[in-house]
Amino acid sequence: MNKKLFVISGSSGVGKGTVLKGFLNKNPHFMLSISCTTRLPREGEVDGVNYFFLSKEEFQNCIDNDKFLEWAEFAGNRYGTKRKYIKQCLADGKDIILEIDTKGALQVKKQMPEAVLIFIAPPSLEALEKRLRGRQTEDEATIQKRLHEVKQELERAQNFDYKIVNDELERAVSELENVIIGEQKC
Ligand code: 5GP
Repeated sequence: MNKKLFVISGSSGVGKGTVLKGFLNKNPHFMLSISCTTRLPREGEVDGVNYFFLSKEEFQNCIDNDKFLEWAEFAGNRYGTKRKYIKQCLADGKDIILEIDTKGALQVKKQMPEAVLIFIAPPSLEALEKRLRGRQTEDEATIQKRLHEVKQELERAQNFDYKIVNDELERAVSELENVIIGEQKC
């Protein structure tokens, strides 16, 4: 059976990570793709587990050598998915999910039209801002930058295949499960 690539995006602080975690707990055969980034690790993050943390030079080198399926700049840092890694996972029959920003997701869709794009949306912009501040991992300037990005992400999400509103965690997890399992049957 041909495996489908699922791409999940959502604004920062929307709880996309929690929805995904809920889905992965119930469907442990799915794996999250590990991205490359130039941002510094947050407390508790491990190289090769959460991300491959690259220097700016290393990241640029991957761009120059066309190693990325997609890459994007987000809030001053670069993030990218290695093409070879994804092709290998799909060839090995792995159920793989990319958790990337909307710009990257649209690049993936261009190259792999069969990829399924899912956007996790906040119930409202106010709720999103509150969550972002509650997380207390970013300073004010970074929060402002990210809120600006949110509006652009909501625009780009118009071109996604599915939109799931994270108003209630359990409901959002079930909806995500229905979308993914439904798509796998197609
Ligand atoms: P964070 O710094 O909070 O881990 O991630 C910031 C943003 O980068 C999130 O929206 C996340 O989905 C996105 N991101 C993570 N990995 C990738 C990637 O490989 N490519 C792209 N385009 N975005 C990514």
